[in-house]
Amino acid sequence: MYTDQRDDLDEVTTALEAINQELKERMELALLGTNDGLWDWNILDNSVYFSPRWKEILGFGDDELSNEVASWSDRIHPDDVEETWADVHKNVNGETEYYENVHRLKHKAGHWVWILDRGKVHYNENGIACRMLGTHTDITEEKTMQLKYAHQAQIIEQVHDSVISTDLDGVILSWNKGSKTLLGYKANEMLGQHIRSIYLKEDYEALDNNIDLLKKRGKYRTVVRLVKKNGDIVYTELSLSLLRDEKENPIGMVGYAQDITERKRVEEELHIQRVNLQHQAYHDALTELPNRTLFNDRLEQAVEKAKRNSTLFALFFIDLDRFKQINDSLGHAVGDELLKVVTERLQATIRKEDTLARLGGDEFTIIIEDLSNAQDSSILAQKILEVLQQPIEIDAHILYVSSSIGISLYPQDDTNAGNLLKYADAAMYRAKEEGRNNFQFYSAEMTELALERLVMTTSMRQALKNDEFVIHYQPQVDAEKKVLIGMEALVRWQHPTRGLLSPIHFLPLAEETGMIIELDHWVMRTAIKQVAAWYAEGLEPGVLSVNLSMKQLEHPDFIRLVQETVETCNFKPQWLKLEVTEGQVMQKPEEAIAKLGQINALGIGISVDDFGTGYSSLASLKRLPINTLKIDRSFIIDVAEGTEDGAIVKAIIALAKSLELNLIAEGVETTLQKEFLLTNGCKNIQGYYYSRPVHGADIYAMLTNGPEQFASPSA
Ligand code: C2E
Ligand code: CA
Ligand code: CA
Repeated sequence: MYTDQRDDLDEVTTALEAINQELKERMELALLGTNDGLWDWNILDNSVYFSPRWKEILGFGDDELSNEVASWSDRIHPDDVEETWADVHKNVNGETEYYENVHRLKHKAGHWVWILDRGKVHYNENGIACRMLGTHTDITEEKTMQLKYAHQAQIIEQVHDSVISTDLDGVILSWNKGSKTLLGYKANEMLGQHIRSIYLKEDYEALDNNIDLLKKRGKYRTVVRLVKKNGDIVYTELSLSLLRDEKENPIGMVGYAQDITERKRVEEELHIQRVNLQHQAYHDALTELPNRTLFNDRLEQAVEKAKRNSTLFALFFIDLDRFKQINDSLGHAVGDELLKVVTERLQATIRKEDTLARLGGDEFTIIIEDLSNAQDSSILAQKILEVLQQPIEIDAHILYVSSSIGISLYPQDDTNAGNLLKYADAAMYRAKEEGRNNFQFYSAEMTELALERLVMTTSMRQALKNDEFVIHYQPQVDAEKKVLIGMEALVRWQHPTRGLLSPIHFLPLAEETGMIIELDHWVMRTAIKQVAAWYAEGLEPGVLSVNLSMKQLEHPDFIRLVQETVETCNFKPQWLKLEVTEGQVMQKPEEAIAKLGQINALGIGISVDDFGTGYSSLASLKRLPINTLKIDRSFIIDVAEGTEDGAIVKAIIALAKSLELNLIAEGVETTLQKEFLLTNGCKNIQGYYYSRPVHGADIYAMLTNGPEQFASPSA
């Protein structure tokens, strides 16, 4: 802006080359618009002309100030005199093209007026400086503003806290000393950088999301984490405000950040103290377990949660047997140690999500949530009994404690927390009455059922080791040709006290406990070995059918296992057929189809067992990689011409034909049934009509007896 005015000045000077009063007045008129005062100094006679506006700037009327240099020079602020005259002389001496100086002049009222003084010297034809002409601009207002800003900037620079300004895009425009102290970066490292570089990423993102709020309100306060140059993180309280231009348009942001790391630390400490106090109020000092108050709270919560999600939970009430004796005879210190060991053992036995609490003395409770099966709690109870039975060594004493456990179940026994606790307690007393070291459900039937299951589960594990399982083989016969075409392997348990057990008595439990995987694997291995041995002898046992449980099919190792077994026994894949039920396949059809496909690819056949009892649609049946349908026994029992079952069996036969599947009927006992099947096109038959499932030795006899074996029904 100064250059523009300089050009103006040039024009003014040229215009006034010829001293012409009229021109001067015109000039003044022109200057009036700019609000500047005019001065015209005749150097030769030292007279000077001051325009009315010149005098007005200093508060004087036109006739109140005489036209002499002193009217100006006497009013200059003592601090400015020297420099002002120096600048004048430089121009007069020709050192500068223009004269320009800012100085203060005393106003009539006594205060100082800031003047921007500009002018230019003129020479006469002899080259002597004869005249100087110029203008005065009142810049007091600008100057005070400037000073104010300079002041503020100085203050900002000096404050200990960080003050950073940016443009609207977040590019850093200013960076004070406090910012350097806080973050370790110098201003020159940060100017022009984006502000995001000093924030922790997620904090910047959170802040960025609130920029609209800042724009709306003009101010925004928050706590953010900034990252120092050395990578440390500082907590700061940040006040952001919008910078606006004189027209109130936002032009940038200024952030004022105070280090609150220390405050945060103190707050945290207080918080920890508070938490500790709370912990003390809700926990048992000896074992650190939840105390009765917290336990009651958790029990209420468990009820709420189970109600909401329709789930089951069990509440255990555990009391140590003979704890009082130990406490009385060996002292409290030993008793305390014992309780600690018991706590550790219990904690190691339960899941993390179960709540273990100590109600006082030697009474513990456990809330076991999300039970899939109410009876599963019996397995845990048994485990706890075993764990607590182990001897405990304290100070050279070897202590034997056992425990009595009472169990109540939500929602079976009650849906009220208080009642559940009462019932578990009552059940615990019954356990004591039953001779200690046992568990009892609140309802007596539950206890019996659980015990039976437990006994079965443990003895089943034992049975595998002791070789108590046996396989019976049931022949499958081509009724037309009257020859053996294969056999189904069926497992039995030769129980040491209960005699030969049918699979219906132990398979459901084996499924539940997962033992079925081991058991089925054993059956498959044993049967394959057996049949392979017969083949090796030159006999013709036909195709071996093995039943497959759902769990087995789901097992990731299953395919590998089948393959391995077949290979190690030198068993041809086409000698093997696996039986699955519709239900097993339809639970997870995609998975099952993939697995069965893999089995099929090995050359092993797949048969749909109990066919007709499930809900397979024709469409899904077509997608299954199967070879055989096995008509369920329930349709065979009453099968005859004209009956409903007869119609169903005919339909199944037609279906198998259209899908090009093999067929076999199971559970055939009578000649009538056999004839019906033969007449209608199902010639493969398995059932008591030909043979019950029998020992391998009996099969061996059949195989060696020759082909007339199945000419007539079994006895
Ligand atoms: P399933 O696969 O349907 O086996 C046929 C069942 O019908 C066998 O009972 C067999 O003894 C019986 N049965 C055969 N012919 C006749 C007959 O003419 N009349 C009558 N009333 N019954 C006959 P079992 O051996 O008690 O097996 C029952 C079920 O247990 C089997 O049904 C099968 O689902 C399962 N199972 C047997 N062994 C195993 C095995 O090793 N693994 C797996 N996962 N399941 C097996
Ligand atoms: Ca079967
Ligand atoms: Ca069957």
